Amino acid sequence: ITYGRYVIVGFFTDEVGPQRWDDYFGVSTPQLSFQAMFNHAAAMRNGDDRKPGGALACFAGGAHADALFDLPDEEIMSRFAKDLLAVFPELEGKLGEGIVRRHRRVVPFWAPGRRNSLPPLRDPLGTIHFAGDYQLDLPSLADAATSGERAAKAVLA
Ligand SMILES: Cc1cc2nc3c(=O)[nH]c(=O)nc-3n(C[C@H](O)[C@H](O)[C@H](O)COP(=O)(O)OP(=O)(O)OC[C@H]3O[C@@H](n4cnc5c(N)ncnc54)[C@H](O)[C@@H]3O)c2cc1C
Repeated sequence: ITYGRYVIVGFFTDEVGPQRWDDYFGVSTPQLSFQAMFNHAAAMRNGDDRKPGGALACFAGGAHADALFDLPDEEIMSRFAKDLLAVFPELEGKLGEGIVRRHRRVVPFWAPGRRNSLPPLRDPLGTIHFAGDYQLDLPSLADAATSGERAAKAVLA
């Protein structure tokens, strides 16, 4: 199984009042050191009572992530902070220290023709049933949970 990679920097921010990104769950950021910024709180903000502060997560994936893995945290943080400020200059002085995470196995994917390795990976080994995001059709948390449920039922049966 080949896995997608991510290098992520999360920033706690200390802005006050409504901001341009409040309604955007994700912002595509091509040509920068990260390819997308996620603002997960957007899903919970409803327009009124915008509390101060927030949290923004900047994601570099694939080859972009590969090029970052071996750099020191400080270097990754400073590149991401610089690029985030290029998109939202009003965050100047409001970005807390970044939190760097390196994920070498995010979700599995297959080259053309390589999914034929899947059937043996799905087969139980005797009474041992496997579960994981690679087992079904669209690698995700949902598929991982479904495959876990299926494996548990098979074991019970
Ligand atoms: C940063 C990030 C963001 C993501 N975003 C999304 C998203 O938005 N939506 C989505 O659907 N999916 C997302 N995913 C993918 C999702 O998290 C995975 O598809 C899912 O967690 C896989 O579940 P799993 O049970 O197959 O494996 P895992 O959750 O990886 O569980 C495997 C477990 O096995 C343990 N383990 C490994 N080796 C051993 C060992 N030798 N002995 C004992 N235990 C061991 C590990 O510690 C781990 O707890 C994201 C993943 C990452 C990393």
